[in-house]
Amino acid sequence: RSKEIGKNNYCFFQTELDDINKNRLEMASSLRKAVGNEELYLVYQPKINLSLNRIVGVEALLRWNSPDFGMVSPAVFIPLAEETGIIVEIGEWVLSTAIKQNKKWQDKGFSPISISVNLSARQFLQTDLVQKVEIILQESELHPSHLILELTETMAMNNLEHSIEKLEQFKSLGIGLSLDDFGTGFSSLSYLKKFPINELKIDQSFIRDMIIDSQDASIVKAIISIAKSLNLTVVAEGVETEKHVNFLHQQQCDQAQGYYFSKPVPSSEIENILKESVTNEKKTV
Ligand code: C2E
Ligand code: MG
Ligand code: MG
Ligand code: MG
Repeated sequence: RSKEIGKNNYCFFQTELDDINKNRLEMASSLRKAVGNEELYLVYQPKINLSLNRIVGVEALLRWNSPDFGMVSPAVFIPLAEETGIIVEIGEWVLSTAIKQNKKWQDKGFSPISISVNLSARQFLQTDLVQKVEIILQESELHPSHLILELTETMAMNNLEHSIEKLEQFKSLGIGLSLDDFGTGFSSLSYLKKFPINELKIDQSFIRDMIIDSQDASIVKAIISIAKSLNLTVVAEGVETEKHVNFLHQQQCDQAQGYYFSKPVPSSEIENILKESVTNEKKTV
C-alpha cells in the first residue's frame, strides 16, 4: 500500500514538473516576441551620494508586462532569457534605451547623472559587446563616463583572461564598471585587484539585518574598508530604513540605493526627483 502511495505521489509530482516545463516553454516563446511587441520597459532607481544627500545616478531595471503572464519578475524571465539566448536582443534593447534616456535627461538641462545597466552572463561573453556599446554611445551622444556597466563576480570569473581584456577595453573607453551583488559569489579577493572596476555594490542580503546582526554589520564594514583601500566607490543595495542610512553614513559608505530613498520608478518620476534636487541645491546656496 505504501508503495502505491509512493507511486501516486511520484505521478503527481511528475505532472507538476511537466506543467512547469510547459509553462516555461510557453513563457520563452512569449518572451521572444516581447521586445517587438513593446511589452518590456525600464524603471529607474536612484543612487544617492550619502555625504551630499543627492542623487548621483540611477540603475535601469527591466520590467516585463506580458499579456499572457501578467507582470513577470526579472528573477524569473532573465534566467529564461539567458537559457534561450533571447537575452542578447533584450540586453541590446536595454543598453540602447537606458543610454538614450540618460542623454534625454541631460538635454532637458538636468545636471548629469550616471546610468547603470546590468549585463547578463551570456551578453558579457559576446565577442562584439564592446563595439556594440561603443556604437550605441556614439549614436546617442552620451559621454561614456555617464554609463556604468554592472556585472557579477561569477560572470567575470568565467573565462578570466577574456573578461579582464573586455573590462580593460570598457575602461579605456571611459565607461564605469561596477561589481554587483558583492559578497555573494565565490571569487577570491585577488580578482578585485585584477579587475579594472570602479565600484562595488554590497549585496542587499548583508544590508537587510546589519543593524540587528553583528556578523552582517562586520561584513558590511569589511567590504567598505576593502573598497576604500582599493579606491573603489562603494554602494549599499537594499537600503530600506533610516537606521540603515545612519549606519552606512557612519561607516563612510559612499552611496546607497533602496526603498528608503525610492523604489525603481518610470523616467518621468526620475525627472521630478532631479527637479527637486536642483531646487534644493538652489535653496542651500
Ligand atoms: P540587481 O541588479 O542586484 O538589482 C537590485 C534589485 O533589488 C532590484 O530588483 C531592485 O528592485 C531591488 N531593490 C532595490 N531596492 C530595494 C530595497 O530597498 N529592498 C529590496 N528588498 N529590494 C530592493 P529587480 O528589479 O527585481 O531585479 C532583480 C535582478 O534582476 C537585478 O538585481 C538584476 O540582477 C536583474 N536585472 C534587472 N534588470 C536587468 C536587466 O536589464 N538586464 C539584466 N541582465 N539583468 C537585470
Ligand atoms: Mg544591479
Ligand atoms: Mg545587486
Ligand atoms: Mg542581482
